[in-house]
Amino acid sequence: MNLPADVLNIISVLETNGHEAYAVGGCVRDCILGKVPHDWDITTSALPEQVKALFKRTFDTGIEHGTVTVLMQGVGYEVTTYRVDGKYEDGRHPKEVTFTASLEEDLKRRDFTINAMAYNDTKGLVDLFGGKEDLDNGVIRAVGNPTERFTEDALRMLRALRFSAQLGFEIEPNTYEAIKTLAPTLERISAERIQVELVKLVTSDHPEKIRDVYETGLTRIFFPEFDEMMGCDQINKHHQYSVGEHTIISMGLVPADKVLRLAMLLHDVAKPACKTTDENGQNHFKLHPIQGAKMARNILRRLKFDNDTTDKVCNLVTNHDDRPPITERNVRRMIIRVGQENFMDLLAIKRADCLAQSMYKREEKLKYVDDLETAFNSIIAAGDCLRIKDLQINGKDLIDLGVPQGTRIGEILKTVFDEVVEDPQLNNREYLLKRAKELI
Ligand code: ATP
Ligand code: MG
Repeated sequence: MNLPADVLNIISVLETNGHEAYAVGGCVRDCILGKVPHDWDITTSALPEQVKALFKRTFDTGIEHGTVTVLMQGVGYEVTTYRVDGKYEDGRHPKEVTFTASLEEDLKRRDFTINAMAYNDTKGLVDLFGGKEDLDNGVIRAVGNPTERFTEDALRMLRALRFSAQLGFEIEPNTYEAIKTLAPTLERISAERIQVELVKLVTSDHPEKIRDVYETGLTRIFFPEFDEMMGCDQINKHHQYSVGEHTIISMGLVPADKVLRLAMLLHDVAKPACKTTDENGQNHFKLHPIQGAKMARNILRRLKFDNDTTDKVCNLVTNHDDRPPITERNVRRMIIRVGQENFMDLLAIKRADCLAQSMYKREEKLKYVDDLETAFNSIIAAGDCLRIKDLQINGKDLIDLGVPQGTRIGEILKTVFDEVVEDPQLNNREYLLKRAKELI
């Protein structure tokens, strides 16, 4: 295994001073898989104070848990003292952590066999629980007794599914059964920790593993709206899957970007609530995009997502099903509504939505999206005015014309902007000044 120079250096300094030290966890797993680890964690027998004394630049990341960050050429490496987690009294965090001199004890507290391996050049791979074999076979298996391990920390259940989505692995049957049994205890876990795992799962190569999150009973705890979608049939010629299955398929059809995957996950979230059946037994879902954006906002808030992500996702949910006739005017208005910077995302959402539906009118629907893209590109290429600040006049011009400072300025600019959106030819200074004078 090829450890980077900085990691070799940290390990060697610790060893030279009479301590043990290994690369551990995710980085060892990723190296064996031939992936480049995104960070390197080091586990050591040295106590935090001893680590701090041996390196020039360190800071206390989680010193109460034994973690010191060592800085090497601007890159931080987390160096954590071997530890045993104390009793978990609430299924969330250990009451206290105890340092230990035993690597084995440290590896035993880790969640899955594939995450419980350590490596250094002196000792080679330390694999006490068959992690290498599980990696080779594509298996996620709890270290030790899964029921005990999930009782200690309920988040591990969601982590199992997240790793299965990132790696395309299966969950070992006893581990899977324990998740099904203990799923309700996920309730004790904070929204912030759940969010981290959910994002990693939906932005993975296998977002369809969200189906297992549902089947184990975990979505019911933190995202019951998804269970509603899974149970919602769509009798209607546009569809051949339930709302939930359609959603799962559509997620796999957009790039692995957080906003796109979340928007796809939530685009039809209001369908169960908006479902009606007509006299021919056909289902309709009137106003589900608007209703869906409201629900999406609640869900994302509940899961403590930041405002920027929430706003972008809700914007895409609101607009996902808009299909105005394609005229330059309509498309300009649509760009203004959606935001030019979000428009390509909306096109990706629309294509995926369509491809996850039935074959009914598929060619026609895809052609519509292609035409929308063409119109978008030609409007952007023409440099049409799409924002008030792209007008050839501004507030200062109106003040010079004698409009007093205040809300009237904004109102006049908005009026001429709407006229310019109707007819881009009107965006010339001379005309707009004349028009503004009429409006004063
Ligand atoms: P990623 O690539 O997402 O960073 P990772 O395996 O490094 O994957 P982290 O959440 O960074 O995952 O955790 C680092 C290591 O700490 C894990 O590999 C595992 O050994 C251990 N670990 C993390 N969270 C838990 C937990 N809740 N219970 C037990 N062990 C854990
Ligand atoms: Mg990590």
